[in-house]
This record gives sequence, C-alpha cells and structure tokens, in this order.
Amino acid sequence: MGTRRDFLGKMSLTALSLPILYSPTSLFAACEQPYDGPMLRVAIMGLGSYGTRVAKAMVDCKRAKLVGVISGTPSKILKWQATYDIPQKNCYNYDDFDAIKDNPDIDAVYIITPNALHCEQAIRVAKAGKHVICEKPMAINAEEAERMVNACKDAKVKLLVGYRMHFEPKTVEVIRMRQAGEFGQPKFFQGQSGFVMGNPNQWRLDKELSGGGAMMDIGIYSINGARYMLGEEPIWITAQETKTDPVKFKEGIDETITFQMGFPSGAVASCLSTYAMNHLDRFYMTGEKGWVEMRPSTGYGPIKGRTHKGELLQPHITHQTLQMDGMAQLIFEDVQPLVPVDGEEGLRDMKIIDAIYKAVKTGGKVDL
Ligand code: NDP
Repeated sequence: MGTRRDFLGKMSLTALSLPILYSPTSLFAACEQPYDGPMLRVAIMGLGSYGTRVAKAMVDCKRAKLVGVISGTPSKILKWQATYDIPQKNCYNYDDFDAIKDNPDIDAVYIITPNALHCEQAIRVAKAGKHVICEKPMAINAEEAERMVNACKDAKVKLLVGYRMHFEPKTVEVIRMRQAGEFGQPKFFQGQSGFVMGNPNQWRLDKELSGGGAMMDIGIYSINGARYMLGEEPIWITAQETKTDPVKFKEGIDETITFQMGFPSGAVASCLSTYAMNHLDRFYMTGEKGWVEMRPSTGYGPIKGRTHKGELLQPHITHQTLQMDGMAQLIFEDVQPLVPVDGEEGLRDMKIIDAIYKAVKTGGKVDL
C-alpha cells in the first residue's frame, strides 16, 4: 500500500480531484507520463532508522535514485551496497566524505544523522559542491541554521530540509484551500504533536547530540504546521514547560512544552509538544468561513482529515517517495512546492524554537 504503483493505479479514478502540487508542471500529472529526464543521484548520510525508511521509499522514485552512502558503520555499508547495488566508489565514512567533491556520480547528500551533527556536516557537503538535503530539525538553533544557509549560498548549491508534509497530498489540498480563501480568514490553529519516548539511552535524550527534547523532534511539526495552516509568520511566543521525569529527561531535554503563538492578522495558535503522551498527532484550524481537522496530521500516513466541506479524499502516497521526486523536480526544474522546503524555511522554524526555549526560561512573552 502507498507505493507509486498503487498511486498510478488510482490515477484514472482520482486524477480530476487531485490538487495541483506544482505549477505549471504538476508532479502528479507527471506521474502518468514516462520520464526520461535527469535523475537526482543521492547519497544518504546516516544509515539509521529514518535513513532506512527514506532508502526504501526511494526505490519507487522516478526522478531520484539512491547511489551512495556515508556511514560510520562498515557492516551497514556492506548491507546497503548489496541491497541497493551501490558501488564501492560511492561509499564514504565521516572522515573521508569531503572527497565526494571528486565524485561526478553524486549530485546531493541527504543528511539523516543526529540533529547536532547536521550543521557541520551540511557545511562540509556544501563545500564539496553537492546539494544538501537535511533532516528536520535542520540544526539545533537559528545561528547554526543561518551558517548552513550562508554556506550553501556561497557554494551555489541548494539547501533543502526534509519537510515531507509539504509534498503530502491531503496537506497540500488544505494549503490550497486556505490560499483560495475557502476557510476565510484563518483565526485559530491547534497543534498536538507527541509520543511516549522509549529507550532512555538513545541520542534523542542526549543534549549534545539532540540539541533539545521533544520540541526538536516532534514539536517542530506543530510549529511548521501552524505556519502552513495559517499562512502567516508568528510575531510573539509564550511557552510553559512541564517535566514529570527529570531522570529520563535531563536538563536541556524538554519533555512537555505547551506554547502559544500570535500572528499579524490576530490569528493565534495553541500547541503541545511532548515525549510523555501518546495519540497526539492532530491539527485543527478554524477560519471565518470554515475549518479543518487532520488526525493523524504528520505521521507516516495515511493522513486523515475533514473540512467543513467533507472528508479529504486525496490518495496516500509514501511521503518520502513524493518528497524525493519533488526535490528532484525542484533542483532540476525549479518547480516549487506550495510551501517552501528550503533552508530559509528551516531557519524560520529554528528561530521559533529558540524563542520557545527563551519563553520557557523567562516565563515572559518573546517577540519575534
Ligand atoms: P537513528 O538513531 O535511527 O539514526 C541516526 C544515524 O546517524 C545512526 O544510525 C548513525 O548511522 C548516524 N550517526 C552518526 N553519528 C552518530 C552518533 N554520534 N550517534 C548516533 N548516530 C550517529 O536516528 P533517526 O534516523 O531516527 O533520526 C535521524 C534524523 O532524522 C534526526 O535529525 C531526526 O530528527 C530525523 N527524522 C526525521 C523524520 C521525518 O519524518 N522527517 C523521522 C525520524 C527522524 P551510521 O551508523 O550509518 O553512521
């Protein structure tokens, strides 16, 4: 379920109702036609749990292909070479990957390592002259994110952030409806993002590698979601932290944060980010003329949602497949998604995360 082949099978039934993700050339429409244009040749850095998911999804990509790996674990490299037919000359470790600059067979590196490593790794990839695709959070603060944006500008390479929801059909439809005025003026967003964090010994609970707790990992979905659901940038933040397990969630690792954001139009957002509660994957937005509820809203899918007009019926397609094909189209044809996935977009989220942590610390309202 959820592969490109399933999608193509459904195309004849659903083509007329599909949202136009890209303009003027729709990626969805492009799925119907044979493709013989350039392939985005990608090396994945960090062969962990999410890297594995991305690699599997890329098998169904039409415009992007996994051709290389960068890893600190030789046994994983061997396994990936066998699974994805990756030649030895496209395999690197964290010490020698700067040599990728001399490899004409790799166009982009997708960084899927712990958060605190993203910044320096991205800068090295940029200096090697390759496009950078980086997982969220793109860095651990805005200062790092800014350095990444500048390094990629200087090197004249693209910097893209793994915002897979910006390619997800139901999400895209909601954004299209909002842009078309179908909800009227958006007034209120509620985002709930969280799960119970398991293994206490993983890097996500080590500030040196994660840069923070639930907010960096899952709360960022409510931040990003508030922005694309309301279509505005926040101008103030308030935030409160609750910690029930200070042994598991040490200093600097947030367990639960509730936060509020105010927007120039007067719209407000109220959000929850947590590592201590399950069943929290829900967005709600109400405007002057309509509303939308998405639940689940950012999991791997299928995403489900209803608006005042009825159920959202766009098909489920593996998010990472769409994302990587969309990013290839962006890089080769400059076709933009409705909501950007570039470094500036990631930087906006990092500025908000900085402000949330500041608001927690000071207990006051932080202006952006
Ligand atoms: P994992 O722990 O599963 O994998 C991270 C990999 O990074 C490791 O397997 C390892 O690969 C490499 N690595 C390099 N240095 C270190 C180190 N010091 N400690 C631990 N691992 C290291 O994490 P995830 O794959 O779950 O997350 C990676 C990134 O992807 C994070 O930034 C996370 O926020 C993001 N993510 C995004 C998701 C999304 O939906 N967009 C979902 C899940 C995660 P190797 O052995 O090959 O070197």
